[in-house]
Amino acid sequence: MPSRKYADGEVVMGRWPGSVLYYEVQVTSYDDVAHLYTVKYKDGTELALKESDIRSQSSFKHRKSQSSSSSPSRRSSSRSRSRSRSPGRPAKGRRRSASQSREHKDEKKKTIQETSLALVVVVLFKPSENNTKRYNGEPESTEKNDTSCIILEQKLKPDLEVKRVLEQYSLRSRKDDKKKEEIYSEKKTFVAVKPIEKVSTKTKELEFGGRIGTFMLIFLLPATVFYLLLMCKQDDPSLLNIPPLPALESLWDGRVFGVFLLWFFLQAVFYLLPIGKVVEGLPLSSGRKLQYRINGFYAFILTAATVGALLYFQFELHYLYDHFMQFAVSAAVFSLALSIYLYIRSLKAPEEELAPSGNSGHFIYDFFIGHELNPRIGSFDLKYFCELRPGLIGWVVINLAMLLAEMKIHNLSVPSLSMILVNSFQLLYVVDALWNEEAVLTTMDITHDGFGFMLAFGDLVWVPFVYSLQAFYLVGHPTTITWPIAAAITVLNCVGYYIFRSANSQKNNFRRNPADPKLANLKFIPTATGKGLLVTGWWGFVRHPNYLGDIIMALAWSLPCGFNHILPYFYVIYFICLLVHREARDEHHCKQKYGLAWERYCQRVPYRIFPYIY
Ligand code: NDP
Repeated sequence: MPSRKYADGEVVMGRWPGSVLYYEVQVTSYDDVAHLYTVKYKDGTELALKESDIRSQSSFKHRKSQSSSSSPSRRSSSRSRSRSRSPGRPAKGRRRSASQSREHKDEKKKTIQETSLALVVVVLFKPSENNTKRYNGEPESTEKNDTSCIILEQKLKPDLEVKRVLEQYSLRSRKDDKKKEEIYSEKKTFVAVKPIEKVSTKTKELEFGGRIGTFMLIFLLPATVFYLLLMCKQDDPSLLNIPPLPALESLWDGRVFGVFLLWFFLQAVFYLLPIGKVVEGLPLSSGRKLQYRINGFYAFILTAATVGALLYFQFELHYLYDHFMQFAVSAAVFSLALSIYLYIRSLKAPEEELAPSGNSGHFIYDFFIGHELNPRIGSFDLKYFCELRPGLIGWVVINLAMLLAEMKIHNLSVPSLSMILVNSFQLLYVVDALWNEEAVLTTMDITHDGFGFMLAFGDLVWVPFVYSLQAFYLVGHPTTITWPIAAAITVLNCVGYYIFRSANSQKNNFRRNPADPKLANLKFIPTATGKGLLVTGWWGFVRHPNYLGDIIMALAWSLPCGFNHILPYFYVIYFICLLVHREARDEHHCKQKYGLAWERYCQRVPYRIFPYIY
């Protein structure tokens, strides 16, 4: 049996899991079987660490002054710089002019000063960094070597920025502040001395049933869409009334595919318009931040104007209804071709640009999850574009086409009340998503999952063709509802929307500025990462109040279709499954991120989505 290196009670430096940062911890016990040390961080978080994640304090240099030009950390820094792909870096071996050399010295001096500031941020907000790294390149299971010095260089923050970040956390009690400052003042003086080694970002934990699961999903997802659409077309869409398969040639129409391409490229043109602000995404594993143009809402307005013009010129929008299945096939073929293109180009992508979740080395798995995190053609971000534009805006246009088809087929002068409700509720949802487009930049889809079949098919086929199922259903299966029922359903949708929006806004505002006076009445649990976990307000009600609101809305979208068939309820059933699974994924990530603080949060807020149920 190998002997243990560190004794109980010994104070050592422990690596924060999934990150490159070391903190002072105390060894509390050792598991002989698993060969794991239980260590306690200063905030009380207890974690089990491998011996390789622990260093003695003597291996860290105690840094009192800023003039450490010959410190190993600086040597490491310059090594990391020489590896960087910064366009400003002079070519290897190129001679410097005297002015360049002076500039370089000034730059070096500035870097030394800024590095100390960066260190404040990195040390105090270790977990944000930790987070960011996981979102942008590291699965939890990824083993990373020590690259602290790279981080020091990447996080060059001006003084004011540091002050601002420090102020953000002024909501906590003074006692907590003092404690934090003590931790900070002790920790900021440590600089890792280990040299940089190569970073490995292989995905080890496979999701969605691994290779077999993802292989099956590649067939199951399109099959589900076609089954649902075929069912919806039937007079009696009962579950047991299996629809006959259509002739293959009837599924394809070159003209429909042309219209689909036109739609896709029209949205691409809107995306490229230089209107709307440009914002930065979360830092990538390389420290770089990508820029994104926020103009989804403008794209929606322009689309509305285009559709309005088409209707004015007598274009029959119910063409979409008449060729609905062919449009779905066109979108599926396009998304498959896009996924193949994305996978092929990802093979040439540098390691640091691969997705933390889609870099397993298994072709099918990586093809499904997405191998490359942010595939771009120039500044055109393919994933970001597909997330909210062609599919989401397409969903609203399809709904409108269904409304017009209903009027035409049933010879109505106004659409049915059910159709108006479904159209209005879903329009509100889409407009809300586009209005808050910036929020998509911090979602798992953008920061964690690559762009592969899952998102390409999800964004371009699943969202527009499955989410519009209620409107499609209503065209073939008119449902009459009374005004009081319509009013009750509207109230339900408003309640869901209120919970969804206020919960999302509460958390987004808190993450952006915890010192916001509007949030002064909210309590939170501080975590070792520097971020707090809200325990009052919506996030003290259940652990995912935004999912609760979303599910309530999903129910309100199905209810106008009556109770004759289960088909229009497919969305709410699927959505509950999706969000329960997503919630489990998120819990897993949060447990890794926040350790004991997350467990405390779970004790304070025992229900995940549905109060007193789940
Ligand atoms: P969430 O907005 O629910 O974010 C989860 C994150 O919030 C956690 O990882 C954690 O991140 C932070 N967090 C958790 N608990 C707390 C707390 N107590 N206090 C403060 N922060 C906390 O993630 P999603 O991206 O899954 O959902 C976003 C929205 O999109 C939801 O409204 C969801 O319903 C909707 N959605 C819709 C879908 C659709 O198809 N219509 C599909 C998926 C989602 P950290 O601490 O790092 O900030």
